[in-house]
Amino acid sequence: VAKARNRGVAVYDPSEDAHDPDRLALLTELRRAMDQRELVLHYQPKISLASGEVCGVEALVRWEHPQRGMVPPDKFIPLAEHTGLIGPLTRYVLDLALSQAHRWADMGHPLQIAVNLAARNLADPDLADDVLTMLETHQVPAHLLCLELTESAITTEPENALRLLTRLRAAGVSLAVDDFGTGYTSLGQLKNLPITELKIDRSFVGTMTTERSNGLIVRSIVDLARNLGLTTVAEGVEDAETFTALASNGCAVAQGYHMSRPLPPNAFDRWYADTRAV
Ligand code: C2E
Ligand code: CA
Ligand code: CA
Ligand code: CA
Repeated sequence: VAKARNRGVAVYDPSEDAHDPDRLALLTELRRAMDQRELVLHYQPKISLASGEVCGVEALVRWEHPQRGMVPPDKFIPLAEHTGLIGPLTRYVLDLALSQAHRWADMGHPLQIAVNLAARNLADPDLADDVLTMLETHQVPAHLLCLELTESAITTEPENALRLLTRLRAAGVSLAVDDFGTGYTSLGQLKNLPITELKIDRSFVGTMTTERSNGLIVRSIVDLARNLGLTTVAEGVEDAETFTALASNGCAVAQGYHMSRPLPPNAFDRWYADTRAV
């Protein structure tokens, strides 16, 4: 079993080879991990650039593997997508996220929670119903849920995407296009999809203050979003300079290590209490 060191934590790194016995083992283990509730969510705040306040969080899945250590999502989400396990996995994540959203609302500070969908989820005919049922079960109002979809998901499943998104949006769920700027969504598609938010990919945001062209791209996306009536979120904000530049460009929301890394629930609650105490 190959292991790489990452910030002092053992990270599992299986080969990309489809016939790798490690991959099969991983798949069997991923099924077991869901039964054992080894998949957990970390939460990263989204900060309003105008007020500095926390306006929501993104839920990011991690696998707390008893032997392999913390396994990051890019090591098992693609595998889940290729094997159909993504349906159960997405429902597992939604269930955890919505129980957390209920808890925060109960504590008197409701936070909108964003959950990532995979491309294959868009072709799942039961997903919209299941999301709406889960909102009811957890007694979470629909506006406290945001679903993030990548551009490639939208372009590979355009009809399915439209059906699913229209249904969820009509119920009040927010919808974000993730990693915006890296795919091939046409302006026509953007205009016709019932989305509420564009998340500017961190490959542009990370270097917007040092590479002129990336600064221009960020500004163009913010302008485009404004003209389409969409909120802009910049991801991968790693320093104060980028934060300030985004604010002066009229970007609405920032997310990134500069404010906080994704945190486990208890650490997030402490971080959030500290920001409100200031
Ligand atoms: P993403 O949706 O684009 O999520 C943002 C990723 O950027 C996260 O990585 C986050 O930790 C990282 N990040 C946040 N701020 C910064 C920053 O300032 N600088 C840098 N360099 N990185 C930052 P993470 O948690 O490893 O997730 C990777 C990807 O895995 C996600 O990318 C998403 O596509 C996928 N993913 C995570 N959780 C889920 C899930 O529950 N379901 C599905 N389908 N995909 C998920
Ligand atoms: Ca995302
Ligand atoms: Ca993203
Ligand atoms: Ca990404």
